[in-house]
Amino acid sequence: MNQQHSQELFREAQRYLPGGVDSPVRAFKTVGGTPPFIVKGQGARMFDADGNEFIDYVCSWGPLIMGHSHPQVVEALKRAVERGTSFGAPTELEITLARMISTAMPSIQMLRFVNSGTEAAMTALRLARAYTKRDMIVKFAGGYHGHSDGLLAKAGSGVATLGIPDSPGVPSGYARNTLTALYNDAKAVEQLFERYSEEIAAVIVEPVAANMGVVPPQPGFLESLRSLTSRFGSLLIFDEVITGFRVAYGGAQALYSITPDLTCLGKIIGGGLPVGAYGGRRDIMEMMAPVGPVYQAGTLSGNPIAMTAGIETLKLLNQPGVYNQLENKTASLEKGIGTAAAKAGIRIYISRTASLLTVFFTADQVVDYESAKRANTEEFNRFFHVLLTEGIYWPPSQFEAAFVSFAHSDEDIQLTIRVIGKALSLLKK
Ligand SMILES: *Cc1c(COP(=O)(O)O)cnc(C)c1O
Repeated sequence: MNQQHSQELFREAQRYLPGGVDSPVRAFKTVGGTPPFIVKGQGARMFDADGNEFIDYVCSWGPLIMGHSHPQVVEALKRAVERGTSFGAPTELEITLARMISTAMPSIQMLRFVNSGTEAAMTALRLARAYTKRDMIVKFAGGYHGHSDGLLAKAGSGVATLGIPDSPGVPSGYARNTLTALYNDAKAVEQLFERYSEEIAAVIVEPVAANMGVVPPQPGFLESLRSLTSRFGSLLIFDEVITGFRVAYGGAQALYSITPDLTCLGKIIGGGLPVGAYGGRRDIMEMMAPVGPVYQAGTLSGNPIAMTAGIETLKLLNQPGVYNQLENKTASLEKGIGTAAAKAGIRIYISRTASLLTVFFTADQVVDYESAKRANTEEFNRFFHVLLTEGIYWPPSQFEAAFVSFAHSDEDIQLTIRVIGKALSLLKK
């Protein structure tokens, strides 16, 4: 694969941007090599500065569930841009998107738009602390909720990829208020509640963990979190930044029939533009300024461009058959990879929920961060590079989900399976 232009751009980027990127995993540090510099995306494909073409399984890390530059989204955005990009005053578009979200997720009676998932999770915690008048929170090892202080403890995503134990720069006072447990270990959470019963404001959880690779909740886990938080007067926060409108139109809370007190959203609801949101019960949300005393604000929050991309994306998703097709595409990818691995004589563990999928290079079941970390990352890295060379843009980390979009055709999936088969048989040698 010719990467001359990307190599030059990567060198230049590193002069001005730490690691040459604006978000760490993009730099390919753990897989090695040069990240392709992208010039264009179309449907399921991306094209780089050297003219290489890739079938994309990153999809901007989740937002592009309808694929790159979907014509309906692009058309609506063009019209919106001509009317102005931001007013710092209310628009009807905010009501439209808020109503669509609240209808899809009835637990969200009210919400507020922000500009990233990080902001959403950070503010949901502030609100939970104000509401319960408690300071501590429980999160899960390998769970990622953005990069705010206090949520970086044992974090997933890039923190897991780079093996950073806990980020410097976080005051010890913040970290002290963050308790951690292993995902799928409700017993450990119960013990934390027994020990700190009057101090835990909230449990924040990815209802399907997707930042240590995909790790679905085991039966009863989310139910236990719901009943423990209720019993101890604490709030249950679902971080559905990835799972919202991904695992079902109504998110993981619809898929598993659990009602959280607060929900964090991002990624898909921005349709590829920077958006996050937090929302939930009206009595809790009305603690936010200007109704209540809890402060949070944003210059570009709810801007018409981002709202438009979100509205059009949700419109496309809210049509019959969309989630069935996503399920079928990803199920055939999963099945094809399983068959290819058996044929190559390689033991892997494929983890999938809806259109989220991870190929773990371990023979054992992955149920939490400890078992995820047993994966052989060197094998993953070799696998990754065969795929990239053959035109498959897989997430450049063992600990991230691959995202299948509606734009992936059956031919794309079959081609991907063939390349994966080749990569797995090369690994065996
Ligand atoms: C991506 C992600 C975030 C952070 O969102 P940003 O928009 O990157 O700040 C938070 N929580 C989860 C579950 C995520 O996947």
